[in-house]
Amino acid sequence: MTILKTINLNKVYNSGNIETRALNNVNVKIEEKEFVAVIGPSGSGKSTFLHMLGGVDKPTSGEIYIGERKINDLNEKELAVYRRRNIGFIFQSYNLISVLNVEENISMPVLLDNKDKVEDLDELLDFLGLKDKRYNLPSELSGGQQQRVAIGRALAYKPGIILADEPTGNLDRKSGKDIIDLLKFSAKKYHQTLIIISHDLEIASQANRILNIEDGIMNEVDK
Ligand code: ADP
Ligand code: MG
Repeated sequence: MTILKTINLNKVYNSGNIETRALNNVNVKIEEKEFVAVIGPSGSGKSTFLHMLGGVDKPTSGEIYIGERKINDLNEKELAVYRRRNIGFIFQSYNLISVLNVEENISMPVLLDNKDKVEDLDELLDFLGLKDKRYNLPSELSGGQQQRVAIGRALAYKPGIILADEPTGNLDRKSGKDIIDLLKFSAKKYHQTLIIISHDLEIASQANRILNIEDGIMNEVDK
């Protein structure tokens, strides 16, 4: 079943009198449980594409479907709730809250929904290898551990879709490999669709499909 679909997706940024066409008529279909890598030079539109898919920013024109649902039509509040429960975002810079400990950072999306705790927090901490770090602050963790906290936060609701924007960009090779292994393992365990932006071809080669963006134009790379 198709889980993500874009139809003639365009994004134009206007800042001052400069116009940037970040996405140019992107048509893509992603099936449930696929692992898709998005590659392309810096500034080519990769992050913009991920932001559109995840509903963090709106396209200038075109349609985005998550499953059967056209997310263009949701209002801000509906979109925020929908996003929180269905999409896990992971960024290069972790984006953790520095004054909250591991457990609290992971619980953030659930607390935002006025629920008191993540259902299987112990199991999740175990899965992430962070059980003995649960009360530590982000500043007390290595880069790889911080990224695992961010993955935990993305998994709090066991969303169907994981969107990761250069998740290993700040990590050494070994920690980066561990993070990709963890994301793949999570995708298997929770039946998730995984979309990872990376210019590491070793990561991209592990994906089922590779999408290449250049100057906002997307093409499928033959594997
Ligand atoms: P990538 O992730 O591939 O490096 P981005 O999607 O971040 O590329 O950016 C694509 C293009 O859009 C770049 O030229 C970038 O400068 C521009 N851009 C991205 N975000 C904004 C913004 N908020 N305002 C104006 N221009 C932007
Ligand atoms: Mg980017």
